[in-house]
Amino acid sequence: MCICQGCGKIIQKEFFYCPWCGYSKINQENNESQRLHLEMNEEKMRQNKLNQIEKLEEELDNLERELSVLVLSAEMHK
Ligand SMILES: [Zn+2]
Repeated sequence: MCICQGCGKIIQKEFFYCPWCGYSKINQENNESQRLHLEMNEEKMRQNKLNQIEKLEEELDNLERELSVLVLSAEMHK
């Protein structure tokens, strides 16, 4: 036995739907997994952003290196 979250009446645990109000326990579980799915998407987007930042930092490093090489060769040609 458990209590329906839709109407508060007691229903049997095995029921997927409340016989009193039609409240679906399955939908509730779906919502939960949907929420998890959304959270996972957000996590993925965050990870993508982090990856982008990492890539940009790498490019910045490369540019810095190229710049120092340019400066170095300019110094040598003086
Ligand atoms: Zn109910």
